Amino acid sequence: MPLPIVHYNDPILRKKGAKVTAFTPEIAGLANGMVGAMNEAGGIGLAAQQVGLALQLCIVDLTGAKRDFTWEIDGKKPPLELWMPMALVNPIVTVLPGPEDVYEEGCLSFPEIRGDIVRPDAIRVQFSDLDGHPHVLVCNGLLARCVQHEVDHLNGTLFIDHMTKKVRTEVDAAVKELAKRTREANKPKA
Ligand SMILES: [Zn+2]
Repeated sequence: MPLPIVHYNDPILRKKGAKVTAFTPEIAGLANGMVGAMNEAGGIGLAAQQVGLALQLCIVDLTGAKRDFTWEIDGKKPPLELWMPMALVNPIVTVLPGPEDVYEEGCLSFPEIRGDIVRPDAIRVQFSDLDGHPHVLVCNGLLARCVQHEVDHLNGTLFIDHMTKKVRTEVDAAVKELAKRTREANKPKA
């Protein structure tokens, strides 16, 4: 059975993830389980908080997405399939100079809720792989957007926090309804 995905407004989604300090088989197993959950749900990224753990670990997989982005890892341009699904441990994002871009985002913790979000187009990410080896990813477009969305999760930030007031108002009823459903589902059974 795939790991269940936590929905808004479960408190874990607002918790900053602890730094991963030991690159154990358990962490690799967790990443693997997250890939299963993400694939099952048809997503392109997932953060540890979304499976109920406040840890600095997220995964992304854009092999099935439109490849209108560029990416470079450790100064090289390997085929996407060699690296994805990719686990990013303890990632740190630096925004690169350049334009911002608007795109309609969704989130597996917000089923059926989508909204336009403005984000920087290009970023640089320092992270470790599951063996603890450090890497530098430079990317733009959908990959940069996906990584920013996931790294936000690791710090307790959600995509609704980035919405303009207008967009946030448009989804407000659905967000409140989802929070209510989650609260009811999380209630201890009598
Ligand atoms: Zn999300």
